[in-house]
Amino acid sequence: MKYCPQCGAPLEPNDKFCSNCGTRLSDYGGVVSVGAAQTWKPTAAGTLTISAGVLGLIVGIVLIGRSPLFMVGLLAIMIGIVAVAGGLCALKRRAWGLALAGSICSVFCWLGIPAIILIALSKQEFS
Ligand SMILES: [Zn+2]
Repeated sequence: MKYCPQCGAPLEPNDKFCSNCGTRLSDYGGVVSVGAAQTWKPTAAGTLTISAGVLGLIVGIVLIGRSPLFMVGLLAIMIGIVAVAGGLCALKRRAWGLALAGSICSVFCWLGIPAIILIALSKQEFS
């Protein structure tokens, strides 16, 4: 549940304006933390994490067809799914913990290292 930053009335996730006081709300479908300007950092981190996640999914799908590496492939697919989900959270600036988990899952390739740093630096931008 989200609340209007102006009057505290409960909001629907897709409200553009507060139905109680008419305050314009964020274009991200919710309320931005007071005092936290949005920067490029979560967007960049989300993009890196999703890229790493997609790479993990591709590697996983390739490996899963080779029976000795089936478990490695399965692991790569699970890591890829968490990374993509975390990257989407970073783009939406929601669920900081999952965004961080996604970036940590991305460290199998170098993309995860800047993603972790950027997500850690931009925690206040997440709702
Ligand atoms: Zn309001």
